[in-house]
Amino acid sequence: HAKSMGKANFQFFREVFQEEAEQRLALEADLRRAIDEKQFILHYQPQLDLLDNRICCVEALIRWQHPRRGLVGPFEFIPMAEETGLIARIGNWVLEESCRQMAEWRARGIDGVRLAVNLSPAQFADPGFPERIANILTRTGLPASCLELEITESIAMASPVETEKVIRRLVSEGVSFSIDDFGTGYSSLSYLRQFPIQTLKIDRSFVKDVDAGNGASDICEISILLAHKLGLDVVGEGVETPEQLDFLRRVGCEKVQGFLVSRPLSAESTEQALGAYRLQLLSQAPE
Ligand code: C2E
Ligand code: MG
Ligand code: MG
Ligand code: MG
Repeated sequence: HAKSMGKANFQFFREVFQEEAEQRLALEADLRRAIDEKQFILHYQPQLDLLDNRICCVEALIRWQHPRRGLVGPFEFIPMAEETGLIARIGNWVLEESCRQMAEWRARGIDGVRLAVNLSPAQFADPGFPERIANILTRTGLPASCLELEITESIAMASPVETEKVIRRLVSEGVSFSIDDFGTGYSSLSYLRQFPIQTLKIDRSFVKDVDAGNGASDICEISILLAHKLGLDVVGEGVETPEQLDFLRRVGCEKVQGFLVSRPLSAESTEQALGAYRLQLLSQAPE
């Protein structure tokens, strides 16, 4: 009896694995087609500068317009894109398209807003990467000072020597860098001191819990203190409530991003938001 149960279990697991493997293959094939057929779009999430209440930056966030599944978020396909190497092509498209878009907005009079773009480890490890960025900036006409590249702690730590070289080269050309999801990876203090980065983005998981009395508020506060000591700016990520905003303001965070300020918006809505904001600035004397 036990033996036949074992067999049945084995059969069951084999089917599960097989199904999973098939799903993965299907996703990979879908993803290849998505690249060829240009099924990706970018949304943009504004960052608010708390010192002057201006939108200082928008972060490009990729979405997949899947023919059957509708709008698919990055968590559902970026890992697969990374495993299969497809991230290189997707990442290049994101860079090219977001820089083109920001240059276009600037040409229409939107000024003083920077663009933040997320990078994957594989993109960053490509020896041609700095050159590629330089080419994209030349082609699109976006000033390097408008571009901020977001890397995670794992990228920073994967090969610190190489990473530092790449960052220094791009920083010397005017591009800036931020550390995304700060506090969730292997937070090494050595790279913070060593790399010429400009901004720490405190992960949403800490911001979310600032009122929970579980240490998250202390981590936020200490991260901000550390960042300022090192001459870095801080962005609080995932701010959803006025209480979270108040807390971050109180402990000296200079920028916030989150649903309280704005959800990620389509390109069209982003342009409206930035434009409306500009009109508002022109028509209102500063407080
Ligand atoms: P991220 O870079 O940390 O981006 C912030 C994510 O948090 C976005 O999710 C955004 O929609 C979400 N978010 C922002 N504010 C709030 C909030 O107040 N509450 C909540 N609950 N969520 C908020 P999204 O767009 O699903 O992106 C997820 C992650 O996928 C990004 O995290 C980033 O790591 C990655 N990603 C997005 N676009 C790209 C890309 O073009 N290339 C690469 N390599 N990764 C990307
Ligand atoms: Mg990011
Ligand atoms: Mg983040
Ligand atoms: Mg995050």
